[in-house]
Parts: sequence; structure tokens; C-alpha cells
Amino acid sequence: MIKSHGLVDFHCHLDLYPDLSDAIHQAENAKVFTLAVTTTPRAWARNHALTRETTYIRAALGLHPQLVDERASELALWETLLPETGYVGEVGLDASPRFYRSLDQQKEIFAYILRRCAQAGGKIVTVHSVRAIKAVLDHIERHLPPDRGQIVLHWFTGSKSEAKRATELGCYFSVNKAMLDNARHRAVVASVPLERLLTETDGPFTSTAGCPSTPADVRLVIEGLSELFRIEASAAAATVRTNLRRLLESAEHAASS
Ligand code: MN
Repeated sequence: MIKSHGLVDFHCHLDLYPDLSDAIHQAENAKVFTLAVTTTPRAWARNHALTRETTYIRAALGLHPQLVDERASELALWETLLPETGYVGEVGLDASPRFYRSLDQQKEIFAYILRRCAQAGGKIVTVHSVRAIKAVLDHIERHLPPDRGQIVLHWFTGSKSEAKRATELGCYFSVNKAMLDNARHRAVVASVPLERLLTETDGPFTSTAGCPSTPADVRLVIEGLSELFRIEASAAAATVRTNLRRLLESAEHAASS
């Protein structure tokens, strides 16, 4: 099995584990580049404070579509905090039955967030798109031009043609083990250019060996990608690192233009 050192978990909810500080230390010790996403702007301060001195962990400023119903009033706080970070998420749309009721409000907020990101420039945005991929892509196309910010579609479950459209819009995809274990999603991942792929666990919402996944478990995704693309695991890991570096450079470029 390959080492976790230098792997990438670009979507993990470290603050939803029993002990945030411990989860951060574990990811830091495993040397996994981890994006600690948040679900409400109120969670930002603590995530930021505990990650800012780390080498491998960065916090992202989120407003989760499933929480829009109860947290819409925190949008002003989200906007106030935006200058503090280059990373935004988890944001997006969720049209599954439980959250369908708030879909109009979700769309308003997602559009607003994308416009603020476009205005600020150089943000990297990790996006949720459950049962709403077309709407998510329409929003991105309309509100966040690729030279004003970067999108990473997290746990993408769309079709090959939607993946192609997303690729043409400049999006990256963060892939997890559950996606690779599903034949249909796996085939879609195989259709995406290798240079647009990142890896994620979405811990603690996925499990590995019966426990909530931790960032180090992302090596199983690397092994899955290695099989799928018929390349060495070390080459898959190096490709994902290169992709992350390119993503960060594009964001920096957008921030300074
Ligand atoms: Mn998530």
C-alpha cells in the first residue's frame, strides 16, 4: 500500500469528527494535503484558527446547501469573512427530496456566492451538486468565469455528457472511493481527463473498514484511480499533486489579475 505522505484530500469535514483539533493533527502527521470544508460561516473562525499554522491543512469557508433553510441569515457573515480565505465550500445545490423545498433559496444564495467569488477573484470553490448538476453548471457558467475563480465539483454523480460540459467550463473533480465503487460513476470518472482529477474522502460521511474515513484513507482512492487508468499508484498520486499545484497557480493568477 502506498504512503499517505503527499496525497490530497480536497474535501473533508474535519470539524464533524469528535475532536477537530485531533483530526487536524492526524491529517498533519499523515502529511495529507487536506481541505477542511465547513458547512456554516460560524464554523470558520475555529477551523481557520486551528489550521492556519499547519503545513498541510487549509480551511474553506462554506454555507452548505442542505443548511440554507436555517442558515441563510449567515450569508452576510460569509461575505464578511471571504477576504480571509482563498478557499470556499462547501457550497452548491441539493435538489434531493429532503431539501427540494429550499431549492429556490439555495439557487439565490449559490448565485450570490459565485458572484462574490468572481468579484474577489482567485477563489477555489468546492461544490456540492446532488440531483442538481445541470443547475449547478448553469450557475457556474453564468456567474463564475474560469479566469475569475476555480471550481472543484465534489462527489460528482452526473452523466458523461455533464462531466464533459463541466470540463469545458474549466471544472476539476474531487473523486472519492464510493464513486469508484459504483459502476456508473466509475465510468464517468474514467471519461474525465486525468489532469482534472483530485481526490477526496468527504469524511466523516464515507467510511473505510467500517469507520469514518480520515484523510489518510484517500490512498484507497489513489489505488482505485491507478487501476482505472492503468497507471502506477505513485503516478496517480503524482498526477493529483500536479493537478492541485496547477489549480493553486490558476487561482493565484486570477487573484492578481
Ligand atoms: Mn461534504
